[in-house]
Amino acid sequence: MTELLYLNDTYLFQAQANIVEISNDEFGDYVVLDQTIFYPQGGGQPADNGSINADNFSFKVSHVVLTPESEVRHYGESSGDLVEGEVNLNVDESRRVHNAKLHSAGHLLDCAVAELGLKIKPTKGFHFPVGTYVEYEGVLENGNQYKGPLEVIINRMVEDDIPIVVKDLDSKEAEKEGIKAPEGKSARFVEFEGHVGCGCGGTHIDSSKGLGRIVIRKLKSKKGNTKISYALEDYPI
Ligand SMILES: [Zn+2]
Repeated sequence: MTELLYLNDTYLFQAQANIVEISNDEFGDYVVLDQTIFYPQGGGQPADNGSINADNFSFKVSHVVLTPESEVRHYGESSGDLVEGEVNLNVDESRRVHNAKLHSAGHLLDCAVAELGLKIKPTKGFHFPVGTYVEYEGVLENGNQYKGPLEVIINRMVEDDIPIVVKDLDSKEAEKEGIKAPEGKSARFVEFEGHVGCGCGGTHIDSSKGLGRIVIRKLKSKKGNTKISYALEDYPI
């Protein structure tokens, strides 16, 4: 089991760790660390990139996966012979911050949807830099009529500089929020303070103002679901 340092600090881009396993599978060579700052792809958020370095090698990390056994596998290529032991970790800062902003904006979109009174429920997010959206259960007739009002509300929320709050809920508290805590563990619950929240294991920025202006691109309902696409003005596609 790998300790997930990125859960506590989105802006921790360097750290030390120990390589505890070097192996390979159908996806390539990978290393497992005792603790990591690398976000593994999941919850609609892409994996971090970066490098794992020691005196005699540099391992370029191109993909990161969290296994069902809570082990994080860092995939990539090494120059020099990999050995177990202490290493320095470096996460690509600009990629991490971009991903954290896109992901956090998805949470803020949920808040804006609720504020506008739309009767749709968030089910999944896709927070990659191109084609970013949140999908909701429920259909909206002529959904694009809400594009303008949503954009006004979400950008007002950006200007209000609302802090993001991360809470660890026990199983009873989690149940009240409609989520399930993993067996014997707490559930991580994320919300913009005073607004709707959800269970989430992603990386987030500190407060809404850091997102910059958000563009609501389109609302499209299909097969009982509605996709709301958005983009960050600071990151032209
Ligand atoms: Zn999140």
